[in-house]
Amino acid sequence: MSTTDEPVEYTYEALTTRRSDRPITELPRLVGRAAKLVWDAGRGDLAPLLALSIGGSALGAGRLLAARSVLGRLAADDPRLGSLLPAAGALVVLTVAGGLAGTWAGERNRVLGERVSYHAQTIVATAACEADLVDFERPSFHNRLQRALSNLGTRPLVVTAALASLVGSIASVVAISAAIVTIQPLVFAVLLLSALPLWLVSRALGRRSFGFDLGQTEADRRRGYLLGLMVQKAPAKELRAFQLAPHLRRILGTLWDRRIDDVRAHARRRALTASLGRVVNGLLVGAIVVALGWMVTTRRLTLANAGVVATGALLIGQGLQGALGAVGQLYESALFLEDAEAFVRTLAPGDAPRPAPAFEQLALESVHFRYPGAARDALHDVSISVRAGELVALVGANGSGKTTLAKVMAQLYTPTAGHVSWNGRPVLPADRAGLRDDIAVLFQDFDRYLFSAAENVGFGRVEALDDHDRVLDASVRAGIDRRIAQLSDGFATLLGPEFFGGTDLSGGEWQRVALARAFFRRAPLLVLDEPTSAMDPDAEHDLFLRLRELWADRAVVLVSHRFSNVMGADRIVVLDQGRIVEVGTHTELLAADGRYATMFRRQAEPYQLVGDGAGGVA
Ligand code: ADP
Repeated sequence: MSTTDEPVEYTYEALTTRRSDRPITELPRLVGRAAKLVWDAGRGDLAPLLALSIGGSALGAGRLLAARSVLGRLAADDPRLGSLLPAAGALVVLTVAGGLAGTWAGERNRVLGERVSYHAQTIVATAACEADLVDFERPSFHNRLQRALSNLGTRPLVVTAALASLVGSIASVVAISAAIVTIQPLVFAVLLLSALPLWLVSRALGRRSFGFDLGQTEADRRRGYLLGLMVQKAPAKELRAFQLAPHLRRILGTLWDRRIDDVRAHARRRALTASLGRVVNGLLVGAIVVALGWMVTTRRLTLANAGVVATGALLIGQGLQGALGAVGQLYESALFLEDAEAFVRTLAPGDAPRPAPAFEQLALESVHFRYPGAARDALHDVSISVRAGELVALVGANGSGKTTLAKVMAQLYTPTAGHVSWNGRPVLPADRAGLRDDIAVLFQDFDRYLFSAAENVGFGRVEALDDHDRVLDASVRAGIDRRIAQLSDGFATLLGPEFFGGTDLSGGEWQRVALARAFFRRAPLLVLDEPTSAMDPDAEHDLFLRLRELWADRAVVLVSHRFSNVMGADRIVVLDQGRIVEVGTHTELLAADGRYATMFRRQAEPYQLVGDGAGGVA
């Protein structure tokens, strides 16, 4: 089995060649998709934006006609200032109105951009929440997620601006063409031709940018990670204690240098391509100027008309450049958006979870589990069951597979092979989310929500978040109620010091809050992975003494490295390198004198020494 988890279709080469060599006929579809995203996000702002863009362009054509009128009057045999005024006044009004249309289009564009970013972010966040937990173990998932987040967040802004610019430019080209085509159709044809090199260039640039960004994603994430180490709270203590900052800054500096080199090379290639297009375009525009000069000198065109045609040609040239630039941006953005949408589609939620029958028994049979990219199974041929009212303990050395097994039992990981049944019925992938309704978890790396204390508990079942009695009851069970009552605003106190008004708790207190969250869920099956690792020995002892009483009639799967905590379990399952090597009660396993007995004695010995010593003194 391959140890790389980059599926072939997501590799840099595959993506760049597959996606960037899109035939030109796909452009309308790609642009249509981008436009739909904008439309879905903010049709209320898009319509006025487009109206303002079209209006502004039509005003441009009007300006040209007003200028022609002014020129015509100036070129008359006996020009008078008074006769100029109406046309000059119209020119001023049209110019101001055009400027205002541009300003207000910009204002609409800004708001629309925010709307689109919000819409896009919601799409990605919703999809990411639907992703399988194991997806977060895949680098390719993080790369695509990062690209989707940044592109869906920013590209639509480019799309809205480009759409407005495209519509405005086309309107401008059409309006001005209508004004000059009657005077000299030939020039119009050459102008269209002059736009061809610009079009080819903008398409090539779009492909380059897409390929460049794909190649940078992993390095971008690395830089983000390093920056996170330097600016976030969690790593701040070790960063100082181990004086890591200069070293990390150096690594970040190296990564930035590499990126800047890449950007320089990329920008140079882009500039070369763009320069070529500009030169060819310039030559064609020069040819138009020469042709106009020839027409005037051979009296095929009056000077006033030549002036209008020249100005019109310039404006049409600008309009075409604007339109093609916009199409190029749309094309480029559409490639990014398509990548993001394809990613989101892979995470799209399946059918709504089916309600699960009330828990009676969970059984795993010959289950294997391998992490993406891992060379060997983390769980190998594991069979285990837990019934309502039972306490099953998982023990074993570090890395023996306890946490992985706990996650499989909590329906968070899907086994790579083997069978899982719930009340004797096989669990189908579509059932899994529904089953979680009946499961409460407490992980060793539980989350600390920067929300109120009540919310930290109530997140155990958000539907009951406002049930204060239930929050209090769960907190009492977890032994954290009195500490919360001491906080400045009691249960309303914001936890965590990062936001104004927030208060931090100790590690053990946070763990009790997380435990309260698990109680609050009132689920028939509990999966507790080292639930007392941050608590003091008294608190831990007390909790384990009351475990049965606290979770009477419930099934509990308990991971613990402290053997004294699992002695009372109905079944102790000993894991070693992903396999179950022993199962039994504490007494049975001691009698068997196997791995459990050895590990138990090793843990108990120091306490016996202390006990003997104390006895001796007494
Ligand atoms: P335990 O909880 O008993 O300490 P775990 O279930 O966390 O053990 O890990 C079991 C095995 O799976 C270990 O060998 C560990 O290195 C490996 N493992 C854990 N997480 C991952 C991961 N995300 N990717 C690859 N291997 C992993």
